[in-house]
Formats: sequence, structure tokens, C-alpha cells
Amino acid sequence: MNQPLILIIEDEEPLRRFLIPTLSSQRYQVLSAVTATEGLAMARSHNPDLVLLDLGLPDRDGMAVLKELRTWSRKPVVILSARNQECDKVRALDQGADDYLAKPFGAAELLARIRVALRHTLQADVAKPVMCSGGLRIDLEQREVSLEGRIVKLTALEYRLLEALVRRNGKVATHGQLLAEVWGPGGEGNTHYLRIYMAMLRRKLEADPTRPRHFITEPNVGYRLNLDAPGD
Ligand code: CA
Repeated sequence: MNQPLILIIEDEEPLRRFLIPTLSSQRYQVLSAVTATEGLAMARSHNPDLVLLDLGLPDRDGMAVLKELRTWSRKPVVILSARNQECDKVRALDQGADDYLAKPFGAAELLARIRVALRHTLQADVAKPVMCSGGLRIDLEQREVSLEGRIVKLTALEYRLLEALVRRNGKVATHGQLLAEVWGPGGEGNTHYLRIYMAMLRRKLEADPTRPRHFITEPNVGYRLNLDAPGD
């Protein structure tokens, strides 16, 4: 198979000097654009497998680029955001971005996010029926969850929350997305439910709930389920 083609839309020169060789060294094909206009034109002409998108571009807001991309492409978009862009980050995820990297980030984090985002497309949005990581085993078909070989009983809501995380296959889910999926329309404001249910999942499914390895908090954004925890 050809190496995936990644389009970088980013105007900060030092970051471009880091991104381009880092990605090329992993044998990704790399294209890069400095402005929104140039980036959208390249996306149209080359149909990249993944887009790394900066939110603060010189000619247009990165959010406008995301919206336009999403009118014709479902390919993964990973947002590159500054630490002070919390709201923008959540807005971008809610508008169809797949994940984000908060600047500054290192090579390992960048490559891990890209692998997760690409894996997600390859599996056509369908999670594997059975997933194992550490002592945690999740069987979506049988609706059965176990930790260290022992079946763990989950309530219907806990299971729905777990499933919503599993289906994202390692990608971040925003508070709004989880609330809407688990509690239904109108549930978006009830972030405290989410905190309570996440604590219950951790208590039942983490070997050490105070140091979660699987149920990861993304501060001010949401949660992700890490099923490739180090040491597995
Ligand atoms: Ca920028």
C-alpha cells in the first residue's frame, strides 16, 4: 500500500520545520500549505489521507477551512491548537475534526495521534468486536466487559458511555458529544453526570482508579479511551 499522504496547513515556520521532516522520516508523504486558501486548493487537488490543520492562519480562520473540507471530505482532520484556544478546540471537534494536538507537542505524541486517526479511517468507523488492553477486555458483540478475567457488571448508562468511547477507537470525544450520545438530546449541559459516570467506569475498570491508564481526561475538552496503554 502507498504511504498515507498528509497535508499540513500551518503558517508557523518553526513548527513546519519540525513537522515536515518528522513525518517524512516515518515515510509519510507530506504536502504543506501556509494559508487557508492554498491548503484548501491542495486538499482538492491531492485528496490527502489526513490533514493537520492550524486554527490560526493568516488569511482565514482554520475553522472555516474545516467547515469547507467537511462539505466534501470525511478524511481525518487533526487540529493544531495553541493552549489558549480551549473553546476553539472543542468547537472544532464538535464540527467534525477528529482530534487535536495542543502546541507545543513532541514527535511521539504527533505520530501517535496520526496513527490513531489513520487507523480509524482504515477500519471504516467500525471498532473491532473484542478489544483487550492490559487486563481490560471489552466484547461489544456479547456486551461483556471483564477486568483481570473477572466479568464486571455495568449499568445500562455506564455501558453506553463505554461504548461511545470505544467506538472512537482512541480519538478524543468532547463532553458535548458524549452527553448527546449517552443521555440524548438536551443532555448537553449536564457535564457533572459525565464526571460521575466516568468515575464509576474508572472504579470498575481501572486497576488503579486514581491513576487511570485507559480512561484519559482531556482537560476542558472531554475524554479518550486509550487501549494501547504503555506496558501492554
Ligand atoms: Ca498559526
